[in-house]
Amino acid sequence: MHYTKWILTLAFVSLLQQCSFTQQKNPINKTEQMDSTKKNNPVYSNTDSSKVALTEEEWKKILSPDVFYIARLKGTERPWTSKFENFKETGTYYCAACGNALFKSDTKFESGCGWPSFYEPISKSSIIYTPDHTHGMERTEVQCGRCKAHLGHVFDDGPPPTGLRYCINGVILDFEKAKEAEKKYTEKPVE
Ligand SMILES: [Zn+2]
Repeated sequence: MHYTKWILTLAFVSLLQQCSFTQQKNPINKTEQMDSTKKNNPVYSNTDSSKVALTEEEWKKILSPDVFYIARLKGTERPWTSKFENFKETGTYYCAACGNALFKSDTKFESGCGWPSFYEPISKSSIIYTPDHTHGMERTEVQCGRCKAHLGHVFDDGPPPTGLRYCINGVILDFEKAKEAEKKYTEKPVE
């Protein structure tokens, strides 16, 4: 009888150990990762508009692997995977590689294409347009106007007033809530 109890206790203890081991192995929280990326990124700024020109090696050191893959290797994230795809908060979208302001939330629309879509960039200089002939298609690549990170492509099947659809990888976007809008919301008297 005592022996069985002992076995059970042992099994229970080893189960506990397994649980705590699994918890330790859990991947680091995504937000923490993003924050530490920004801390290690000396060129990241929402206000500095001077051009950024780093070597690919330097970028590799300061960007997270996800952002590096999109920004520098012109990768494409899988459709429907971005948290910004169905995101409706009011604010500004910045380049995740350098902090350059790219789009305002009021130009975002639901395109149904699986990637965050906008009809107009925040300013003419916020984006660079480059012809892209890869994959047997004639497309226009859009890059960050400050650091030349690959953002996505622009198509001419968007809604008015521009008729354009900027189809952007969510990985390369950082979002900041509009401070004014937030203030208005919190100041609104409770009815
Ligand atoms: Zn950039």
